[in-house]
Amino acid sequence: MLDRALLADLAELTLTTAKRAGATYADIRLGETRREFSFARDARLENFDERLTEGFGFRVLIDGAWGFYGAQRLDSESLRVGALRALDNARAMRSIQKQPIELEQLPAHEAEWIMPMAKDPFAVDASRKADLLLAICASARDAGADFCTASLSIAREERFFANSFGARIAQTRTRLAPSFTAVAIDRAAGRVATRDSLTPARGAGWEYLENAGLIEEASQAGAQARAKLTAKPVTPGDCDLVIDPSNLWLTIHETVGHSTELDRALGWEANFAGTSFVKPHMLNELRFGSELMTIVADRSQPGGLSTIGYDDDGAPADSAEFPIVENGVFRNFQMALGQAHLIGLPASNGCAYADSPTAFPIQRMPNISLRPNPEECSLDDLFADVENGVYVVGAGSWSIDQQRDNFQFGGQLFYEIKNGKRGELLRDVAYQGRTTQFWSALDGLGDAATYHLDGTFTCGKAEPVQLAPVSHGAPPARFRNIRVLNTSNDG
Ligand SMILES: [Zn+2]
Repeated sequence: MLDRALLADLAELTLTTAKRAGATYADIRLGETRREFSFARDARLENFDERLTEGFGFRVLIDGAWGFYGAQRLDSESLRVGALRALDNARAMRSIQKQPIELEQLPAHEAEWIMPMAKDPFAVDASRKADLLLAICASARDAGADFCTASLSIAREERFFANSFGARIAQTRTRLAPSFTAVAIDRAAGRVATRDSLTPARGAGWEYLENAGLIEEASQAGAQARAKLTAKPVTPGDCDLVIDPSNLWLTIHETVGHSTELDRALGWEANFAGTSFVKPHMLNELRFGSELMTIVADRSQPGGLSTIGYDDDGAPADSAEFPIVENGVFRNFQMALGQAHLIGLPASNGCAYADSPTAFPIQRMPNISLRPNPEECSLDDLFADVENGVYVVGAGSWSIDQQRDNFQFGGQLFYEIKNGKRGELLRDVAYQGRTTQFWSALDGLGDAATYHLDGTFTCGKAEPVQLAPVSHGAPPARFRNIRVLNTSNDG
């Protein structure tokens, strides 16, 4: 753990330097990120890697131009030099800045936020982690897999944030991503089938893994990988889909999460993974989907990978829940500090994140989730109204165009739905669509009991690339007349 008093002193040093130099705004993030990664293949632990990075990132605004400097150091001389370089960078930026950056005033919070958890995963012996991964591999192979790989990623971010508005915020959060892949091979037929784990990454302590049922899931996965080898090939064409939250989270992420980032909509975020078909003039006008589609952004959901007390601009999370789509209508972009006034709004809605203390904070997703049906509706109820369809489980391959419009998603498990009931296992399924057409075809939602929170550690954005953790919750959902492809060569 870092010495909080030292961090506070270092922060004051840089903010005072900025003030003396005539900066209109300055902020600093100091802290460390601890990461651990373990990996097993079949009966062998192949990798156990632990790293600790510490540092600071100092951002300053002079005459409407940003300057930034970050370094993996936490001593007063490095911060003094860093502050001067950030100031030089801001002065240099002034000459090429077309439009001055304007910032809104944010409330100056003084706070400490620590993610609640029962057992610190970094305090758990490496041997227990290895035992868990080896048990997962053994369980999958006993049940029918020829091979299995398993991994565990753990991260803890500890940050101290201070800005010239007066905010002083200390935060700590921890997250875990268990993952495995069971592989089955039919040598005679020349066919390989894989089944990736469905247990999601979460903002949580070790207790999450103790109760996640990973070894049982690995056993199912081993049997399912084998069954996929002889599953019936899907017949391509238009049909109804019931999409499990373990698959739908990624579709929400790519089609709604990324398309409603204001920096993409404004064309700033264009080089890496595109802009957006959603434009500022569409706010409160665009019909994004059917009446059933309400998608909410938050940073407060327990277990959420984006869950935190304050974003990296110091905006509080507890008042930052907002709808992105409400009953099918587009309601809000995601925004960071200095973006809202560009579309005539008063303030950021708390969507800033820097993936390390040394990175410039940019607009990133909070947890973005599809609201469940307020009326009772089970998974079987969703099947009951389908004559001919496919039930899609687990995230697989994906692709989406630069405007976040045309897409194609695979999955892990696919089942035929025939005459209102789940039927046989299918293989080689992918579904295709255009974002608003797809969401307009939504006509059934599971209730709160079917809601499931999934997500990823590694949403990539910006150059140089930053990786953000983010969760997406959803119930299972039914979509009518969606194009289904057979992805095999023989299909
Ligand atoms: Zn992403």
